[in-house]
Amino acid sequence: MVNENEVAKLAVHYTVDLEDFTYDLCRSLDSNILPKLRTDSLFESYHNILNLLSLFQENISNITFFCTGVMADRYPDLIKLIVSDGHEIACHGNFHDDIYGMTTKEVRDSLSEAKDKLSNISGMEIKGFRAPKFSINKNDYARLQAISEVFEYDSSLHFQSKQDYQSWRNNCTVDIKEFPVPYQSIISSKFMIKTGGSYLKLFPKSVVRTAIHKTIKNNITPIIYFHPYDLYYGYDMLASWNELKGASSKLYWYIRQTQWAGAFNWSQKNKLKSIFKEFKNLGRLDKRLLNKHNHL
Ligand SMILES: [Zn+2]
Repeated sequence: MVNENEVAKLAVHYTVDLEDFTYDLCRSLDSNILPKLRTDSLFESYHNILNLLSLFQENISNITFFCTGVMADRYPDLIKLIVSDGHEIACHGNFHDDIYGMTTKEVRDSLSEAKDKLSNISGMEIKGFRAPKFSINKNDYARLQAISEVFEYDSSLHFQSKQDYQSWRNNCTVDIKEFPVPYQSIISSKFMIKTGGSYLKLFPKSVVRTAIHKTIKNNITPIIYFHPYDLYYGYDMLASWNELKGASSKLYWYIRQTQWAGAFNWSQKNKLKSIFKEFKNLGRLDKRLLNKHNHL
């Protein structure tokens, strides 16, 4: 039996990286076809995640959605719905391109463009950023500086403990508020588990659950992340054979993504249910900006 204090400590921020998987895949593979809109599937996955979360969260049900600029271009109504439901819109890059592949000017320009698009559609000030695929190194001060010039906070870095974070902070020359997505070694000391995404999909839920508990013990507030396709039952979010036209390694990716979407989807709902049931939602990440002293 857990007492009330322990329950209060078992709290996390839930976040969603809201991206158009098919569009991003075709773009990254240089396909010459513009993929069709996945409007119904993306709305369905939004409702699936939120409905499941609201079953277990009595007080705070609002969360943060890190959205690409592409989402603002292609699905403005979904962005508007998310805002009207009381959630935070933050930025997940303009396209879903790696940050470490860009110059600092490209980082600044593309993130400013995405921020403007998301802000125009949502009518909200866009304060937060998460790099696509967490593609930034914590010691890459030049690109972190570029990010800090566009956003008030970043949620792209990984730390294991408060000490780990503190030693980075002491050396970091960039004045950026960092809300890290934690990682922990669970299976072996060399293999780091992040709290969400593919790790929740590929491993038994006990693995991510243990990573969350370890993070709390190490004095970091856990941030959990999902994708639209983490709670979507179907194949519509995959690129069709035709959409991959002109793509490099077309056959490989066609098979790969199909295996990916089919794998483990059956167990995803129960895994999420048990995570939502155990860990209380701390709400939107931008609310943490109000707390000047404790960003962890
Ligand atoms: Zn992403």
